[in-house]
Amino acid sequence: MNTLPAPNKGLPPPEHSKPDTSRKTIRQLLLRAIRLRCPNCGARGIFAGYFTLRDRCPNCGMMLERGEGDYFLGAYALNLIVVESVLAAAFVIVMFVTWPNPPWAALQWGGAALAILTPIAFYPFAKAIWLGIDLIFRPPKREDFISRVK
Ligand SMILES: [Zn+2]
Repeated sequence: MNTLPAPNKGLPPPEHSKPDTSRKTIRQLLLRAIRLRCPNCGARGIFAGYFTLRDRCPNCGMMLERGEGDYFLGAYALNLIVVESVLAAAFVIVMFVTWPNPPWAALQWGGAALAILTPIAFYPFAKAIWLGIDLIFRPPKREDFISRVK
């Protein structure tokens, strides 16, 4: 699904005929991703909704899904790591603060709530950060700015 009008289907829009494929620093890529901006150009608006990443950046035109259909498996793994870390940190902090009488029921229900809410809250960040990590190892090429036929 392409959200942009495609009068010249298969070709990059005219303003993207000189795509920005310059090498960015790791810090630049990740800071932009954490702020939910395009890691390549830093523009806002790469998400169409809370859960929906656009097909391409509205500013630089880079395709945001840069691989196969399972491209964002890495984002799900990243999300899982964050959820597990948040749960472990919350557990350790509560145990440390309330020892020797930890609130077991609150830990149980709070842990369940965290396990449900954290992945939802972190979802767009996981996708954007995964895109930033991918751009560290595979900098954008000219092909990343050309529409793919689906
Ligand atoms: Zn961009």
